[in-house]
Amino acid sequence: MSKNGWTRRLLPDSSQRVRRLVQFAFLLLNIWIGAQFYLFVRYIERGGWRVDRPPGAEGWLPIAGMMNTSLWLQTGNVPVIHPAAMVLFLAFLTISILFRKAFCGWLCPIGTISEQLWKLGRDTFRRVFFPPKWLDIPLRGLKYILLGLFVWFAGAMTAESIEGFLTSPYGLVADVKMLDFFRHMSQTAAIVIGVLVVGSMLVPNMWCRYLCPYGALMGIAALASPLRIRRVPSACIDCAKCAKSCPSNLPVDRLVQIRSAECLGCMECVAVCPAEGALYLGTKKRAVSPAFVAAAVAAVFLCAVGLARVTGHWHSPIPEHVYKVLIPEVASLGHP
Ligand code: SF4
Ligand code: SF4
Repeated sequence: MSKNGWTRRLLPDSSQRVRRLVQFAFLLLNIWIGAQFYLFVRYIERGGWRVDRPPGAEGWLPIAGMMNTSLWLQTGNVPVIHPAAMVLFLAFLTISILFRKAFCGWLCPIGTISEQLWKLGRDTFRRVFFPPKWLDIPLRGLKYILLGLFVWFAGAMTAESIEGFLTSPYGLVADVKMLDFFRHMSQTAAIVIGVLVVGSMLVPNMWCRYLCPYGALMGIAALASPLRIRRVPSACIDCAKCAKSCPSNLPVDRLVQIRSAECLGCMECVAVCPAEGALYLGTKKRAVSPAFVAAAVAAVFLCAVGLARVTGHWHSPIPEHVYKVLIPEVASLGHP
């Protein structure tokens, strides 16, 4: 058995199977939450069959998550409105710090859909495309610029102004605003999404690579991760399969460890490596198995949600009569 003996036993098959299982389970969970939230909004609008609002919908409010984290740090009190946004934001950040941007590579539904799109494009066109470096590098910078704007926005606000924002009519129904972006999509938004879908079939993870500020933050957090993709030059046979398979276009075959904030921890490179013990995800001394990553990611997520539920920091205590007033006029609510 090699130093990283599990690689021989489990790969190339299991890492991608295990990851896909986690990805699709989380995608299904999001579809379930989205459907429940839609039915809740329809119940408020039309009455009839009562459906409770799922707090998990706040996972789609990353800016509220950042603002609530800032509020928590400033006051020491867990925010009352949209607490689940903060809980999920911190859980995903923890997952990325521990497991190498695993939020993007293992959990994010947008990442999962993007991955299926570029794989469909690769199978259709028999290749993937990456822009030349002179264009790729500045384009990758866009997501950090967007992240900087959001961090500045959330960080510059005082506790009073964050509370004022979150308890304003707009802040209370920010989740309904997000739903309405998809329910009543403007022509411009539909065109932009269409361009991203087509572009994602050509350039792997186009949205994540160039535009997603959340992914940019997870990538920066992942720099602190103890886990990295590591190559053992003495075992490597220089076939370059790892680099060719990398959706982030990283030169895996030329480095001894991948520090890049672009690494998704997806283990695609490990899965295709034909040389025993040449490539692994882990610390300098120890490899971790895909099953361990899957179990640990699930454990962090479930513990965060469970703890928030037990301590009463999961549900937003917005009464139904407030929703009944605000939801019918949500389209006219402007940003405070
Ligand atoms: S280096 Fe490996 S784990 Fe990182 S993004 Fe590329 S294929 Fe995925
Ligand atoms: S796939 Fe494995 S053997 Fe081939 S270059 Fe990468 S690390 Fe070396």
